[in-house]
Parts: sequence; structure tokens; C-alpha cells
Amino acid sequence: MAEEHRSEMLDHIGGFESISIEEATSILGEQTRMEILVELGKAWDESRHQQQKLRFSELMEAVGLTDSGQFNYHLDKLVGSFVAKSDDGYWLPNPGMQLYRLIVSGTFTEREIRTDIDVDDCPSCGGTVRATYRADNALVFSCDACTTGYAVIPFSPRGFTNRTDDDALQAAFRSFYSELRLARQGICPACDGPVETKLVDDLNDRLDSLSVGGVISSLRCTVCNNYYYSDLSSVALTTDEVRQFLIDGGLEPPLVREWHDVTVAADESVTVVQTDPLRVEITFAVKGETIDLTFDSDHQVVSSTRSVE
Ligand SMILES: [Zn+2]
Ligand SMILES: [Zn+2]
Repeated sequence: MAEEHRSEMLDHIGGFESISIEEATSILGEQTRMEILVELGKAWDESRHQQQKLRFSELMEAVGLTDSGQFNYHLDKLVGSFVAKSDDGYWLPNPGMQLYRLIVSGTFTEREIRTDIDVDDCPSCGGTVRATYRADNALVFSCDACTTGYAVIPFSPRGFTNRTDDDALQAAFRSFYSELRLARQGICPACDGPVETKLVDDLNDRLDSLSVGGVISSLRCTVCNNYYYSDLSSVALTTDEVRQFLIDGGLEPPLVREWHDVTVAADESVTVVQTDPLRVEITFAVKGETIDLTFDSDHQVVSSTRSVE
């Protein structure tokens, strides 16, 4: 693209300044303003591949108001904090768009429950691992016979939109593993803040009940308390070394699940080989080949060795 056209790609957002949480909640705690955000978020210009800016009268009509004084009062509250105003109309820059995306994800509003999506055979008892979509928008995977709980994965209601149940479950796992990978790298998938990543081998009662191998991966955002506790296998699945090993063995890493043989065996192999500093070993095996990895307490791979049995 020619240099003179590039500036057109960058919309000028005007004067945006930091506001306090009190100011933000006071601005947002009003129905018309929420409707303005939703109408601007929905507007999309197919031919230009960008948000469609709405003029004052278009936006007022979309929101369904006829009193322009009243409408202007509410719109004015949003401009400069969540809504941008250009010569050719109003639009949502990043803060407004982030809020719009949360609203339409259904996370705030929808409490639909789905039960008993059959997923797999249970490795412990031969029963059926089933997924239940709970009223708090989390997928819970557990065995209907032996009641072993295998995983809890947050998933927005929109994850089921235009997908079969099976495709939705795949989407949930792909999304979960990509979040877990970011968190292991110290980046919070929810707020971008720093994540404290620890391998814990001195388990308390609660952690002990969650652990198969006597070691727990604890990943917690120091800003927003977004946290992930899991067995080491799930976190190991997000490393380049294990991902490549599984791909070479014909598996799709994001779709290798907690109750699959390869994962169950890996968790049973977890060994603390050194305590100070902590070194933990885990082994994955696929089709006669194995990979041994050693992790330090920050989830960094200290060493990895592949061998044919
Ligand atoms: Zn079972
Ligand atoms: Zn965070």
C-alpha cells in the first residue's frame, strides 16, 4: 500500500483520558448509553472491512430515541471515554469495543444450561465422560459412573453459536490451551497483566485433591486473579517440545484431553527429581516413542529428550 494512503488506516480517536473506576461505572450505569455502545459495536462496513461510523441521527434512530436533547446528553457522556467522534461519525475505539465484545459474548446475560453431552469413555471405569454446560458459563467434564471430575473450562455462550456440540467442545479446548500457553509464558489472557507461574510440590488438602502426580501447576494473574490450576501434563501440552512430539505422533495437541491415555500416563509419570531448586520430570509416550521433559518451578523446560523405546 502506498505511503500516502496509510494514514487513512489510522483513525484519530480524539482526546481520551484515564478515568477512575467510579467515573467509569457512573458513565456506564445507564441503559441508553449501553444501547449506544451495542449499536456502534454492531455497525460494520463490509466493503471497507472496518467499523461503520454512524452519524448522530443514524445512531439516535438505531437506539430508538426521538428526543435529540436527551440522546445528546447520554452520547456526550460516552465520548472521550468509550466512544470516539470523527468528522464522519461516531465509532468505538478499543475500550468501547472491548466492552461491546463482552456484552455480546453472552457472559453477562445468558445462563443457558446444557447437560449430558457425551464425550468419551472414562479411563478409570469404562463409563462415559460427559460435558455439562453449567449456569455460570463453564463446561464441566466428569464421568457419569465413577463421578471423577476431569476438567472445568470457562466458555462463552456464543461458543455454541452455529456449531454442533462436538465442534463447540473442540473450540473450548483449543481456546483453553491457547490461554494456558499464554499464562505459562507469564501473560494473562484476560487482562494482559503479569502471571505468577509456579510448580508446587508441597500440596495442601485442596491442591492434593486436584493432583494426580503430587505436583500442581499454579498460574495466577497478579492483577486480576485469573487463575489456572492443573496437573503438569496440561501445561506441558502447551510447550513447543510436547506439541511437536504429539504432532509427529499423529495427534492434535489441543484436542488431547485430560482423560486420554497419553495424558493419564504422563501425569502418572510425574517425578520430583530435585527439590532445591525444584526440578520435575514428566514423560509422554506415543506409538513407541517417548519424550522426557524436566521443568523448573517457573515452568521453563530445563531439558527434553526424545527416544524410541
Ligand atoms: Zn468413570
Ligand atoms: Zn489478569
